[in-house]
Amino acid sequence: MSGAMNFKNCGSVLVTGASRGLGLQIVDSLASGAFSPGKIIASTRNPASAQKLQELAEKHPNIHIITLDVVNQDSIEKSVQEVDHLVQEEGLNCLINNAGINVVADFHTVTAEKMIENFQTNTVAPLMITKAFQPLLKRAASRGAPGGEGSMGIHRAAVINISSALGSVELNWGKQANNFKWYPYRASKSALNMMSRCMAVDLEPDGILCMAIHPGWVRTDMGGSEASLSPEESVSSMFSVIGGLTEKDHGSFLNFTGDMLPW
Ligand code: NAP
Repeated sequence: MSGAMNFKNCGSVLVTGASRGLGLQIVDSLASGAFSPGKIIASTRNPASAQKLQELAEKHPNIHIITLDVVNQDSIEKSVQEVDHLVQEEGLNCLINNAGINVVADFHTVTAEKMIENFQTNTVAPLMITKAFQPLLKRAASRGAPGGEGSMGIHRAAVINISSALGSVELNWGKQANNFKWYPYRASKSALNMMSRCMAVDLEPDGILCMAIHPGWVRTDMGGSEASLSPEESVSSMFSVIGGLTEKDHGSFLNFTGDMLPW
């Protein structure tokens, strides 16, 4: 049985950056699959312009659209209140930190501002969002059975950080390094991997699983039309992995195939 079926045992999933690309596909696949979770909370910084998301929400009553600009602390705090109201005593089971940007710059064009801009969205935001939602995740985790096999996973509470293989320090050598000389993006995703690992240490006592996953090279606005995977293929494969996560995957950095990636 695919791990994705485990989303059925998940009361709520919150996705950031759900207006387009992988975030929109995550919402679509969750809503249309045979494993739809109780509540799909799709966040976007501008709901009024997220036409495709609005259309999905009209078809699927378990999609709840909320406003969340991931780089705005007031927006994060407001979104926590909204989600709290939606999930109530059940808490939040799964947070998917997906929103991201790619500020393309090489050694010659990179500036301090470009580095900071990419860091703010890809690294700082997932950390601030996870911090803000920790009480809701903890509430969900406290309802599951602590300790032993099967004690961690999306049925209880999990933070999934959508990272990138381009954030791997070890893989940034040879041909791959020459092809993508993207200083801000690569550094922001390496730092996200470190944040993931740091948060895994701090969330463990509450039974909240935390990991980072690479979605593959995907045909979205960011990935471009030459990419090898469709959003459906990437998300379907990631769901098998995410749905099957247990305590052995806590603090890991995995490929969309489920294989381990080097840090
Ligand atoms: P995309 O098509 O460019 O979509 C990016 C999403 O992030 C959009 O929904 C965008 O919202 C949202 N976003 C950006 N800044 C935001 C902010 N401040 N607040 C709220 N939302 C914000 O990119 P994608 O390909 O779907 O990428 C999704 C994630 O996968 C990213 O973290 C990316 O780094 C990662 N990834 C992608 C690939 C790939 O090949 N595509 C490969 C590896 C990793 P707006 O519509 O409002 O701009």
